[in-house]
Amino acid sequence: MTFRASVLTLYPQMFPGHLGESLAGRAMERGDWTLEAIQIRDFARDRHRSVDDTPAGGGAGMVLRPDVLADAIDHASPPDDARPRLLMSPRGAALTQDRVRELAAGPGVVLVCGRFEGVDQRVIEARGLEEVSVGDYVLSGGEPAALTLLDAVVRLLPGVMGNEASGNLESFESGLLEHPHYTRPQVWEERAIPDVLTSGNHAKIEAWRRAESEKLTKERRPDLMPAKKKPPQG
Ligand code: SAH
Repeated sequence: MTFRASVLTLYPQMFPGHLGESLAGRAMERGDWTLEAIQIRDFARDRHRSVDDTPAGGGAGMVLRPDVLADAIDHASPPDDARPRLLMSPRGAALTQDRVRELAAGPGVVLVCGRFEGVDQRVIEARGLEEVSVGDYVLSGGEPAALTLLDAVVRLLPGVMGNEASGNLESFESGLLEHPHYTRPQVWEERAIPDVLTSGNHAKIEAWRRAESEKLTKERRPDLMPAKKKPPQG
C-alpha cells in the first residue's frame, strides 16, 4: 500500500526538500510513498490572490483566512478521505514516536503548514484539524515541522529502512534513550572501545547496552523512565 502525504503550504518549493534524498527519496522512487505539495494561494478568491488578513481584535501580524484554507483542504482531502488532517502548530500536542508509529500504519496524512501568526480558529474546528507541535519553540512556518514529521513517519514504512532491526532498538522505541555506539578504530585518541563490546559475549553485550540505556535515560530524561511498581502497603 502506498502511503500518501498531501501538504498544504504557501511554499510548495520547500518540498520534498531533504525527503527527496537518501532512504526517503529512494522509498519515494520505489512508490512506497507519495508527496504532493499544494499551493494554498491557488485557492485565493480575489485578484490579489490574498491568503491572509489582519487579526480580528487587533494586534501584530496576519492570519490565514479560513475560506481560502478550507478550499485548499477540501481539494486535497475530500470528506471521505480516511487520512488524518494535521495542523503544524506550536500549540499542538507534542509529536511522539507513538503517534509517528500510528501515522505510519495508516493510509497517509494531510498536513497544513501555518505561516504568519497562524490560522483562523474556525477552519481548525470545521475541518477537524489535529494540532501537532514538533517542540517547545516557535518556527516561522509549518514547513520544517511537516518535513520533520514526514521524515519520522516515512522511515517506519514497511521496507524503507535497509536494516529493519535498527528501527526497533533505538531511542524511544523501547521507551528508553539509546545506548552509546562505537566503531573502529579500536583505540582513538587514547580512548578504547569498552571491552565488553569486543568480547563476543552477546548476552553480556545486551546487558551492558540495557544498563547504559537506563543510566542515560535516568540522567537525561527521567520523565521517560518506566513507572516503578509501588511496594505493597502495610
Ligand atoms: N503566533 C503563533 C506562532 C505562529 S508561527 C503562536 O504564538 O502560537 C507560524 C507557523 O509556524 C504556525 O502557524 C505553525 O504552522 C508553524 N510552527 C511554528 N512553531 C511550530 C512548532 N513548534 N511545531 C509545529 N509548527 C510550528
